[in-house]
Amino acid sequence: MNIHSSWGMALLLAFLAAMIASVCVSLSFFIPDTSQFWYMLVTFAIVFIIVLLIGYSLLNKFVVEKITPVYKTIRGTSQQDSAKNGKLTGTGMLAEVSKEVINWAVNRNREIAQLKQMEKYRREFLGNVSHELKTPIFNIQGYVLTLLDGGLEDPAVNRLYLEKTEKSINRMISIVEDLEAISRLESGEMELEFEVFNIIPLVEEVFDLQEVRAKSQGIRLEFARKYDRPIKVYADRKRILEVVNNLVINSINYGNPDGRTIVTFSDLGDDLLVEVKDTGIGVLEKDINRIFERFYRVDKSRSRDFGGTGLGLSIVKHILEAHGCRIMVQSTPGAGSTFSFQLKKA
Ligand code: ADP
Repeated sequence: MNIHSSWGMALLLAFLAAMIASVCVSLSFFIPDTSQFWYMLVTFAIVFIIVLLIGYSLLNKFVVEKITPVYKTIRGTSQQDSAKNGKLTGTGMLAEVSKEVINWAVNRNREIAQLKQMEKYRREFLGNVSHELKTPIFNIQGYVLTLLDGGLEDPAVNRLYLEKTEKSINRMISIVEDLEAISRLESGEMELEFEVFNIIPLVEEVFDLQEVRAKSQGIRLEFARKYDRPIKVYADRKRILEVVNNLVINSINYGNPDGRTIVTFSDLGDDLLVEVKDTGIGVLEKDINRIFERFYRVDKSRSRDFGGTGLGLSIVKHILEAHGCRIMVQSTPGAGSTFSFQLKKA
């Protein structure tokens, strides 16, 4: 309700009251018939003005003052401000209604803020994806144009450029596969297939997969000690292999020459603690919480040199969250990092 509708209501009230008063006067036996009309007119005018003024001020006081803060709140005023400005304290139905509307408006504001944040993520994500894909696409375009411009007949160039093209294509495939994995994990489409398995051969499998990469960087892949007996866990084997593989790849990519990657298992009762420790470059305090964000890299060129997509740790985090656990990290810049997580023992 605004100032105009307040006047409108007061006018209506005044008119009704004046009508009633003048009818009462006309029915009065004490007023002679000849002057009845003038009495009615004067009564109507006096009652109309009095009721109009009183009605307007009362309406303004009790209605407009209560409605305005509610109105303000709906238009985006914060709860604190509207409570302060609108004198919403007190009791009564109107105060209750005000509180209800304010709660409703605050909730809507929160939802709008969340949607805006999601929209911001979505825009950033799309920007990152197109940026990441542009580099290999332009590289491929450059190699193909060079080959078409005569490079195809030049034995010093043709094979080299085809190999570079293949490398760029592989990079695009990695990005697309990682994106697919992330979107399936985030949408909850990826269903986990839980099973009981021995985690020692899983880590050995990862060591075999990354043997060449580790050797090329002069890094040894090893267990903290010899584990003689099987260590059985209950999880999705394929996904946990992906987690360990990503962590081991990072330990090599961000490791120092002649370094080590050490995998440790510790019994925590119902759970098993798995740690992947390296003696690499480590992560600065300011970056430590951000490295799990999609596309966040501390050193972009180093990551790209090793074919990193900037999505590995994000995938790791999602897979572990789908298992109901968290990825943890401890790091000392220049000395190395330890990434760890817990799995349910079987
Ligand atoms: P990338 O494909 O760039 O490796 P990740 O999501 O796996 O993407 O990792 C994100 C960033 O976290 C990396 O770019 C790197 O800067 C940092 N990082 C990850 N693992 C390690 C590690 N073991 N040691 C130091 N830095 C790491």
